[in-house]
Amino acid sequence: MSQVLVLVDHIDGAVRKTTNELLTIAARLGEPAAVFIGKGYDNAAGQLGEYGAKTAYVVDGEGLDEFLVAPKAEALKAVVDQASPAAVLVASSAENKEVAARLAVKLDSGLITDAVDVQAGDSGPVTSQSVFAAAFTVKAGVSKGTPVITVKPNSATPEAVGGGAPEVVNVSVTVSDAAKGAKIVDRKPKEKSGRPDLAEAAIVVSGGRGTNGDFSKVEEFADAVGAAVGASRAAVDAGWYPHSSQVGQTGKQVSPTLYVAAGISGAIQHRAGMQTSKTIVAVNKDAEAPIFELVDFGVVGDLFTVLPQATEEVVKRK
Ligand code: FAD
Repeated sequence: MSQVLVLVDHIDGAVRKTTNELLTIAARLGEPAAVFIGKGYDNAAGQLGEYGAKTAYVVDGEGLDEFLVAPKAEALKAVVDQASPAAVLVASSAENKEVAARLAVKLDSGLITDAVDVQAGDSGPVTSQSVFAAAFTVKAGVSKGTPVITVKPNSATPEAVGGGAPEVVNVSVTVSDAAKGAKIVDRKPKEKSGRPDLAEAAIVVSGGRGTNGDFSKVEEFADAVGAAVGASRAAVDAGWYPHSSQVGQTGKQVSPTLYVAAGISGAIQHRAGMQTSKTIVAVNKDAEAPIFELVDFGVVGDLFTVLPQATEEVVKRK
């Protein structure tokens, strides 16, 4: 069975949940193999085996941690040359999409970005992408070379298979001078809010202009359901919530299993960041708000009444 490579998303060996999701998807397509670039592999080995990686290509080389995306693409290319995989899976993020695009160019193969599902097909992986405010699902496959696919967070439920530590294949890479054009000068961990990371949270509760600057009810509901808090650009521009929480075309792209929009009208630029959510719920006091065209469940009402009721109900059932 051919290997399917998964680029491990980590900082010093602390592996993100998206990697577990990709290993689960990889198992549908072939034999999952992790590509670990940089330092800290020992911290990651157990988790990678737990989610099904049979092999781990551990790539080390001077500068791999120090520089930005270009060296990662070179490292991945070296592993692809060695492993001849059936596909390469990368979690969708701004940085990773650039790595994936550079890799596809180096391999002279096809790239599919922001897949929300990947299944085995007769002639390679078949991806699903959600477009035009989720009005269409596009199924696509790569017709030339090794498929390089970026997959949105929460596109699969990670399945722990209880495997042991993967077999390690050490790969040494010499980063080219051309790839050293941009360098990381500092890394500051984000202040911990106690809430999940917005980009990979399973539940996101967002507030918009309808909050009138008071996010307390949005936050209380989010905490009751263990969600990350997002915001529309109107709320961010008004200075009510940090820019890092903006969801949309010019903010974060989220794809949770549940997205709750409170006091958000549903402008196309907001939809662009949340339309692939599995279940969408809106609370809006205007029954004609465009967000209701998109939702699975809609509540016409005042968020300051509806959200506390929902919070109370959730807390009662815990
Ligand atoms: P509004 O459109 O003003 O809607 C507020 C809603 O709240 C209304 O539907 C109202 O009925 C409802 N409401 C009011 N009070 C209550 C209440 N008490 N209870 C319940 N409902 C209530 N926007 C983004 O979000 N993300 C982006 O990334 C983004 N990028 C953009 C990029 C460009 C180039 C441009 C031009 C725009 C972009 N926008 C983006 C802005 C976007 O067009 C909208 O202006 C914005 O999304 C509106 O935010 P909103 O829904 O919170 O506000």
